[in-house]
Amino acid sequence: MAVVKRTSSNVLLDTALKNFYAAAEEMGLEEGLIDILSHSERRTCVSIPVEMDDGTVRVFDGYRVLHSSAIGPGKGGVRFHPEVNLDECEALGMMMTWKCSLAGIPYGGGKGGVSCEPLELSKKEKERIARTWAARMAPVIGAWTDVPAPDVNTGGPEMVWFMDTISKMKNQLEPAIFTGKPIPLWGSKGRTAATGYGVATCALELLKNLGKSPEGATVAIQGFGNVGTYAALTMIDAGSKVIGISDITGTYYAPNGLDIKKAFDHVSNHPKRLLEGFTCDGCQKLDLPEVLFLDCDILIPAALEGVINGKNADKVKAKYIVEAANGPITPEGDAILDDKGILVVPDFLANSGGVIGSYFEWAQDLGGFFWSEEEYNDRLIRIMKDNFQRVWTYAKDKNVKMRRAAFMAAIQRVADAVRMRGVFL
Ligand code: GLU
Repeated sequence: MAVVKRTSSNVLLDTALKNFYAAAEEMGLEEGLIDILSHSERRTCVSIPVEMDDGTVRVFDGYRVLHSSAIGPGKGGVRFHPEVNLDECEALGMMMTWKCSLAGIPYGGGKGGVSCEPLELSKKEKERIARTWAARMAPVIGAWTDVPAPDVNTGGPEMVWFMDTISKMKNQLEPAIFTGKPIPLWGSKGRTAATGYGVATCALELLKNLGKSPEGATVAIQGFGNVGTYAALTMIDAGSKVIGISDITGTYYAPNGLDIKKAFDHVSNHPKRLLEGFTCDGCQKLDLPEVLFLDCDILIPAALEGVINGKNADKVKAKYIVEAANGPITPEGDAILDDKGILVVPDFLANSGGVIGSYFEWAQDLGGFFWSEEEYNDRLIRIMKDNFQRVWTYAKDKNVKMRRAAFMAAIQRVADAVRMRGVFL
């Protein structure tokens, strides 16, 4: 009997499923395996009642999806965003399975979140949301079960609230359940910059493989959060020019290159970490979407999913795209970019520096022995470069796009693990 293919009205989940089915079929994967891997192992929904600062009570929806634990415990972030829902977590959890597999680290994939607008919440309200999320997810998370981490709008403080809550509930310190913690609380030197650093490493490897110099290469970055900032800083260190950056307050553009260190200081000192009010020599402010359409060598979408799609992909002028966000290009957008000859380095290769860094943190926490930042970065760069080259060579050998090559390599490792372990995991 043929596999009944899953579809979804959620664009991200539908895209994740389509990409998976296409690669799995091209690989000739057995039907049973296709069926197993197109489903998530566990989908958990909780309500999160919170007393707000004004004394009223609001109930938020919280999620955690474990897509696969075939290779190891689930791994993936927890995002705080108004559009978070179960389907989105499922799609992102599946993408984490491929990301961890491709990266060669001992994890499956998971993702979680809370549907809320962090910009409208006080620190205390966020803390209550985070602590209740952790308490209600306690039965399904653990260092050998599913290991959450930062994602959109979450970072060190949320990880501390999560860890502290679970540790108090268990009456013992549980540092290895969460990664992305601050350095004094069992975090790792290097983790904050890891994703952006890894994205930039992929961009630089791409230029190297194409025989181009990073010196003077022009870069536009959509999103100036944690990933975008460290990607920008690494690119300018390599001699490239970051000509455009953006966040929800607009696009900031300077054809001769923006002062990225100044922009970094600006967001670091802004109460909401925004670029609002930023200016530097030659900088002009443009409308929000314009960053995607700047004439540049490398475009790095480092914000949310689906930003380059069937409606706007024809306006992209960049020569190459390195996906820092998860799922920033829809399949329709991808097809248009392909026709235009724009080469795309896929998200689950390009942004895997974060989860590779999380693996280092987890390993250090379990061992209780910490590495220097230099050790951390050296290992991270080595793994990122090796993984980039592996996908690049595979794509050339099989004459497929980098995204398809990355999918095939990633699915292969998970499929092998399922076959070895058997169906009844
Ligand atoms: N949220 C990041 C991602 O999407 C990091 C996940 C992790 O470190 O577990 O890859």
